Amino acid sequence: MNFLDFQIDSSLKEELNSLEKQNKLPHAVILNGGNNEQRLRTAVFLSMWAVCSEKSNIPCGKCKACINAEERTHSDVYYAQGSGKTEIYNVDEIRKINADTVIKPNSAEKKVYIFLNADKRMPVISQNTFLKTLEEPPDNVLFILTTENSNMLLSTILSRVTVFNIPLKDKFEEESLELAKNIVKGILKPSEIDLLFSTGKLNKKQTALDVLAIVSRLFRDGLSCSVGGKCTVDEECGRALAKRLTKSRLLSLIELNEKAIVKINQNVNLNLLATWLCGEYRRISWQK
Ligand SMILES: [Zn+2]
Repeated sequence: MNFLDFQIDSSLKEELNSLEKQNKLPHAVILNGGNNEQRLRTAVFLSMWAVCSEKSNIPCGKCKACINAEERTHSDVYYAQGSGKTEIYNVDEIRKINADTVIKPNSAEKKVYIFLNADKRMPVISQNTFLKTLEEPPDNVLFILTTENSNMLLSTILSRVTVFNIPLKDKFEEESLELAKNIVKGILKPSEIDLLFSTGKLNKKQTALDVLAIVSRLFRDGLSCSVGGKCTVDEECGRALAKRLTKSRLLSLIELNEKAIVKINQNVNLNLLATWLCGEYRRISWQK
């Protein structure tokens, strides 16, 4: 799988990759645990994987299908709506979905149905209605349920889906964040040594992808900070970037990171990448 710059838990990535390799990705999954944003992000990612029009290294992130799925506007990716104040998935909606699953996709090879927070929004009667489809699903359908606590669902549902657990915050993520912050601090220092040292640690493909995705978010924090907005990742880095770099330099840095991520996905030599990246970071940040 091509995880692009999606921040997805590293153990989950491994699990998904190995299932994909064996061609064993289930037709119904529960993304359990983590927080709302992590669950939604993972669901969106899987929907892109299901509808991408490329043949390998999917999702490509660039085709129309991927872009629409990411924007949650793809006609073959259906987000259950729910009704009422509590946005319950009622029996009528489930029946409609059941009937819809037998209709061929519009443009993709698969149809995706996403039930966010199913543990809170899918009452027992709806679960029972859904069960019939889950027992004999059409080939080209992927069901994605997200739950905070999957055990709230009926055991008959659980026995027919694969549960993927998302840790709330994994250690790996924290290490990546630390390295990303050090890269940003290194960019802002007059001497090159710290930056060379930090970029030198991008010596594994996955690490490099994860860390650079966070570095991009830190640059965006800088942009946001420079117009008086909020930081989403780190206040301190955001403020330091906004103070030291102009908006156009920050935009160039974000562009540079995107280029680097493409190169990493093309399996560039990571030592060469680190040196190149270090030089480019400094050129953009320090040239008069
Ligand atoms: Zn695609």
